[in-house]
Amino acid sequence: MGIIKALRGTRDILPGEIGHWQQVEAIARSVLGHALYSEVRPPIFEQTDLFARGIGEATDVVGKEMYTFSDRGDRSITLRPEFTAGVVRAYIEHNLGTKAQVQRLWYSGPVFRYERPQAGRQRQFHQIGAELIGSDAPAADVEVIAVATDILQQLGLKSLRLDLNSVGNVGDRTQYRQALIDFLTPHHQDLDADSQDRLTRNPLRILDSKDPKTQAIVQDAPQLLDYLGDESRRHFEQVQNLLTALGIEYRINPRLVRGLDYYTHTAFEIQSDDLGAQATVCGGGRYDGLVAQLGGAATPAVGWAMGVERLILLLEQLHAAPLLTPEIYCVSQGDRPTAQALVLAQKLRQQGLRVEFDLSGAAFKKQLKRADRSGAPLCLILGETEAEQGTVGLKWLQTQEQTSQTQGEFLENVETLKKRLALTGSTP
Ligand code: ATP
Ligand code: MG
Repeated sequence: MGIIKALRGTRDILPGEIGHWQQVEAIARSVLGHALYSEVRPPIFEQTDLFARGIGEATDVVGKEMYTFSDRGDRSITLRPEFTAGVVRAYIEHNLGTKAQVQRLWYSGPVFRYERPQAGRQRQFHQIGAELIGSDAPAADVEVIAVATDILQQLGLKSLRLDLNSVGNVGDRTQYRQALIDFLTPHHQDLDADSQDRLTRNPLRILDSKDPKTQAIVQDAPQLLDYLGDESRRHFEQVQNLLTALGIEYRINPRLVRGLDYYTHTAFEIQSDDLGAQATVCGGGRYDGLVAQLGGAATPAVGWAMGVERLILLLEQLHAAPLLTPEIYCVSQGDRPTAQALVLAQKLRQQGLRVEFDLSGAAFKKQLKRADRSGAPLCLILGETEAEQGTVGLKWLQTQEQTSQTQGEFLENVETLKKRLALTGSTP
């Protein structure tokens, strides 16, 4: 029988790389926690309609990329292709807005999109994201951006660029949209097929077409920034002033757009030069119209999502993933010694030490070799003699220093042992 393999576009995250994942998750959790964001965990699948309304029929995500199926009750179900729609649905469904004016929420988990798999692009991938719901202040936009840049900085990631734009409000965009259609219509024949299709449905999306010919045409298109009204202009200026006050560098990218009506004001992306074609590690912006679009009371909001796989690719370029190593390695031989060693190992673990137990029962020489390879600074040795006398052998593997203690004495001095182990610098 053939071997069953993981599906195309999905990956197993194995022990050799899990250290990077845990590092990303720990730093995100810490930075978001310091800004008082609370974690939420919406379900992985939802009614298809939530994403159609919450992301928009005219987007690639909804139009081409969703994992949609009928369940056994003939309901149309979709595996989440992003979190925001589900988080906002939960916000509305549980009246979170009445509990506190401002809700700061974050999430982490798998999302699903039917795309062509390549480096940094999978069908099941992972996002970590933040949503700040209930404030229209420019300081809110800057807060979420600052949280994102702090996470990336604490991960030690360099050569990242923050691209910033404003997509204004609905009124600004209605005027701009017409100006863009007027400009592009004479070029209709020269646009790529997708863009031709978008010209009437979602013309703003043409601005971020990857097609070279379309890009060349778009170079001379009118810019959304020139169509911003006073309110939008003020908001954008304040965002920029606050970013500058925080020392966060940015570049204005007039072609950075989100085409849907519920996106407003700030749009941003964080890109890396070290990722090739899939360069965006974080995308976000303001979406003042989404809560109402999904049936809630009109509520301003701003947020972002990071692609964890792309962060991991960057971390791999920097350093190997930290591995879980023992502080103490236990070797034993014979029934009685092994039983006593197991008891010791268990007690040490309960006191907070990482203890690996050799299960082989092989010759001590072999077990001690494995102890050396394990990276543990200390090896505990229990043979028949030790078991008979109620003692335990201690071998410090870096210095080869070897002693023996009664098991009682050894257990009484665990705090001292911990201090010495801490000095050897063995990390979890
Ligand atoms: P892209 O232009 O790369 O397709 P996107 O605009 O579709 O990105 P968002 O919906 O903003 O991406 O999702 C936020 C982040 O999730 C992206 O910036 C990226 O880091 C990551 N991401 C998106 N699609 C994938 C994918 N198929 N595989 C891995 N990561 C992804
Ligand atoms: Mg995409």
